[in-house]
Amino acid sequence: LNRRLAEFGTTIFAEMSALAVRTGAINLGQGFPDTDGPESVREAAVRAVRDGRGNQYPPGPGIPELRRAVAEHQLRFYGLRYDPETEVLVTAGATEAIAASLLALVEPGDEVIALEPYYDSYAASIAMASGTRVPVTLRPDAASGTYRLDLDELRDAVTDRTRLILLNTPHNPTGTVLTRDELAAVAELCVERDLLAVTDEVYEHLVFDGTHHPLAAFPGMRERTVTISSSGKSFSLTGWKVGWVTGTRALVTAVRSAKQYLTYVSAGPFQYAVAEALALPDAYYLGLRDGLRARRDLLAAGLREAGFGVFAPAGTYFITTDIRPLGATDGIDFCLSLPERVGVVAVPTQVFYDHEPAGAPYVRFAFCKAEDVLTEAVRRLHELS
Ligand code: PMP
Ligand code: GLN
Repeated sequence: LNRRLAEFGTTIFAEMSALAVRTGAINLGQGFPDTDGPESVREAAVRAVRDGRGNQYPPGPGIPELRRAVAEHQLRFYGLRYDPETEVLVTAGATEAIAASLLALVEPGDEVIALEPYYDSYAASIAMASGTRVPVTLRPDAASGTYRLDLDELRDAVTDRTRLILLNTPHNPTGTVLTRDELAAVAELCVERDLLAVTDEVYEHLVFDGTHHPLAAFPGMRERTVTISSSGKSFSLTGWKVGWVTGTRALVTAVRSAKQYLTYVSAGPFQYAVAEALALPDAYYLGLRDGLRARRDLLAAGLREAGFGVFAPAGTYFITTDIRPLGATDGIDFCLSLPERVGVVAVPTQVFYDHEPAGAPYVRFAFCKAEDVLTEAVRRLHELS
């Protein structure tokens, strides 16, 4: 392994899912739903395969139907206008979109600011792009039970070498949804310091408190923002790996230049199905959100009763907990022993930090699981105290 990637071993998600399989524990680690997305959407994929749509290489930027559907989605939900011909790119999930964006936009040594704790692919993608990551830490605030971004800290992190801010809202793993005011401040900073923004908005439809605002909608940001999302979370189809990028023609062309040499194209038949999924009525999106909100409440209450400190998430399908009330201090040790102790798998958030001690006592649980699975997990977790 070269020096750029030497610090990145197996992803924590693969490691913890393997542990769940090995021990037969309930897997609340890796974030994937245990119920597949809408039947009509799955049927659309089957039809596409059967009818020979997408079985051979689709067009490089993605099939026109999906690019149009992405553009219509951005207009319908956020009033953002993108030209499907030149300002939308289909990718192999958000993961490829993130990697391709960084590979396309970052020069060696450029600094990339990311909110810490960060989704694990950010650090590796920044490294692959020979960038330097500059973490800005979201701080847990026990009083409000949420994580907050310190805008002064963000401002102080910008230097002459800063190329872009890699933002994620709703935020994995903390569940923080940045407010309109916070995003307006981030936008002002980007404009003032002439920074690009790459925003990972894969949890855009999983917001329980507050509202999701795309950074691209703020003054001066459309021309400097690459917006990324994916069908994995919005349609509970994480295995399909259909993601997309929207942005100006110049930015999307740049991202496409990198993307075409990573995968060229992917997921032909699934692209047809996702085009249909994006056009689902509001009732679908609201139903997804409300179903997850109920499960958030169930797991949050259960974790609290089991003795964890709980940061109730405003968005995503993850709950971050503080294990110190249970007498534990190291999330990694805690998560490695949890399957044997009580038959549950969770993810230590420590691995998403550069400033590791800051993340040591926190553990993430996923609640995108059937209610009876969550109820059983909670019953088991009660045995800890
Ligand atoms: N970004 C965040 C914040 C995520 O949690 C995930 C998890 N799946 C991804 C990106 C990756 O999305 P995809 O599966 O579409 O590559
Ligand atoms: N995004 C998912 C999570 O945070 C996992 C994605 C992955 O396994 N790479 O759990």
